[in-house]
Amino acid sequence: MLIGSYSPALVFISFCVAILASYTTLDLTGRIATSTGRAVYLWTAGGALAMGVGIWSMHFIGMLAFKLPIALGYDGPLTLLSLLIAILSSGFALWLVTQPRLPTAQWVCGALVMGAGISAMHYCGMAALKMQPGIDYDPTLFGASLVIAVVASAAALWIAFRLRRNTPYIRLARGAAAVIMGLAIVGMHYTGMAAANFAQGSFCGAVSTGLSGNGLDNLVLVTSLAVLSIALLTSLLDARLEDRTAILANSLSQANQELIQLALHDTLTGLPNRVLLADRIDQAMHKVADEGGCFALMFIDLDGFKPVNDAFGHHMGDQLLREVALRLREDLRSQDTLARIGGDEFVLLVQLAEPDDALQVASRQVSLISRRFRVAEHDLQISASLGIVLYPGNGQTAEELLMNADAAMYHAKGAGKNGHSFFDASMNSNARKQLQLLQDLRQALEQQQFRLYYQPKFDALKGTPVGAEALLRWEHPEEGLLLPDRFIALAEKTGLIIPIGDWVLNEACRQMHLWCEQGYQDWRIAVNLSALQFCHVGLVDSVAGALARHQLPANSLTLEITETTAMSDADASMEVLQKLSDMGVDLSIDDFGTGYSSLMYLKRLPANELKIDRGFVRDLEHDTDDAAIVSAIVALGQALGLRIVAEGVETDMQQTFLTRLGCDSLQGYLLGHPLPAEKFMADISRLERQAAS
Ligand code: C2E
Ligand code: MG
Ligand code: MG
Repeated sequence: MLIGSYSPALVFISFCVAILASYTTLDLTGRIATSTGRAVYLWTAGGALAMGVGIWSMHFIGMLAFKLPIALGYDGPLTLLSLLIAILSSGFALWLVTQPRLPTAQWVCGALVMGAGISAMHYCGMAALKMQPGIDYDPTLFGASLVIAVVASAAALWIAFRLRRNTPYIRLARGAAAVIMGLAIVGMHYTGMAAANFAQGSFCGAVSTGLSGNGLDNLVLVTSLAVLSIALLTSLLDARLEDRTAILANSLSQANQELIQLALHDTLTGLPNRVLLADRIDQAMHKVADEGGCFALMFIDLDGFKPVNDAFGHHMGDQLLREVALRLREDLRSQDTLARIGGDEFVLLVQLAEPDDALQVASRQVSLISRRFRVAEHDLQISASLGIVLYPGNGQTAEELLMNADAAMYHAKGAGKNGHSFFDASMNSNARKQLQLLQDLRQALEQQQFRLYYQPKFDALKGTPVGAEALLRWEHPEEGLLLPDRFIALAEKTGLIIPIGDWVLNEACRQMHLWCEQGYQDWRIAVNLSALQFCHVGLVDSVAGALARHQLPANSLTLEITETTAMSDADASMEVLQKLSDMGVDLSIDDFGTGYSSLMYLKRLPANELKIDRGFVRDLEHDTDDAAIVSAIVALGQALGLRIVAEGVETDMQQTFLTRLGCDSLQGYLLGHPLPAEKFMADISRLERQAAS
């Protein structure tokens, strides 16, 4: 018997190669498991090649480590065949462990096939020696080598399957598993080698024709190391790339989420905006089509929000809106949508079991808003007007529903605010009428359809006329005589109020000039200014122009601005008011008591007159609060050196009371209605005749 020996260095190297091959394989299974599409096939093919070369070179280096006292060589074709077997069985193993599941039967079959493959590779490699006579294998050890091959394959498959997904400490786990797998492969190889007995006098038939020589071990080692390292490096780089891509994709989807949030929500309150609302309405309509049922859409507009915003500033207004949103939201169920679609406009979409339930929801929302709000140490009182549409019934599309809810909301406002209205078809025609009115308004100036009516003001004590307030009327060709509340808001919305206001100023001054010529030089003519005119840069010039054109002294003109207008942008108003006051024009604060004036501010205003809002005058007789307010306003005005005018005087009792309180002048239906100039003068002359007689 020939006694073989092993080169310890090569044995160690073969063991290292086995571990490296195992690690590479485990790493590649991870790659295959997380790849998609064509990459899966590429990684499986590359993996099979690397793993096959790795296992085979371990085996071949192990063969080279084996020395016999005779010269050895390896038959080329058989050696190549053993390499091919290694690659094919590796490919099979890789395919197996990257399947989504690995049932036991499949695992056992896989282990058998792979064990057989490895054994085939080994014994085919041994056959490449072409020993003469043939190698005599010890049956026990031979059998043991086969069992080890199968068991090692089973262990390797199981480990590879478990470790294919990325988990924490995956590299460490794979390293340990690689050592175990390496040991098993090496164990199989050397058991197989131990089984081989070489008869005395044998010789190697492949010495002359096959592969041999001293450099062979190095060549195989370098080649297999190169293949393994390339595979491993590529795998590592690819994993890093995949991680980076995953991080990028993650931050991209996060950015997307934020964009969606921004695009679909109102930044101030965080509530859904108009776009998201439209989508939710569409969804709700689909749901009704599929499952039946109904929903209500409620258009909520705050009453008295603008004065708060004007008086306390936008910051406070914003905070109030946030509080309103919170309070409304609190009361809703998760399937309902509350959206903010404009300044102080909210829309509520509620799923209903019964159409009648809408009423309850609406009145609850209205009462929630009418409760006091505490914002930045201020108690604020506002209310809400709410318009309701029901679906199915009040519209076909989201836009139509919203438009109708808006019309119903306007109806609720018109009916006294702080309440709700259900939509009905007549409201829609109102909206159409408004549109027609706007078209007519654009031509009204040109067509000379505006008139001024004059309402007298009287000295409270003496009862003599002290002037008149010019009140605008529109002689509409079809609708007849229209009062300002029908068209002023429309004119303001469209900016038409600027030319109309100029016309009023001019016409009032023309009339006053005529009265001056008739001997009423001590009268004053009062003209109302809208907020928009007040902010317009040309106002001071317009006033100066009108006065100059009709040769009127500045103090025969009183400009009436409402309290809210004067307070809206306190500093800017102060500047305009100061300029007008410097010109000598008389200034009056109209509708006093309805806004949120600060006393400090009032003191600085260059005003000459306060007009008590007719709301207080109306209820004087029944409401002790109003009586107290009126006497407080009178006292306040007197303290600030202002003239006090009471408007809306309708009864003798109001006249007596207001006179006693100390009002300077009175105005109201009791004393004279607004009339065209000739009729106005006819009344005045009649009064004068009565007084003379
Ligand atoms: P205002 O300045 O407070 O005018 C007084 C309003 O009270 C007038 O209504 C007048 O007809 C009404 N009134 C007078 N006495 C009584 C009374 O005893 N009882 C009642 N219930 N009402 C009385 P009108 O003419 O409908 O004007 C409404 C508002 O329209 C005015 O309120 C004013 O703010 C605005 N306005 C009128 N003319 C003009 C104008 O030329 N330009 C601008 N910008 N606004 C105007
Ligand atoms: Mg007025
Ligand atoms: Mg007034």
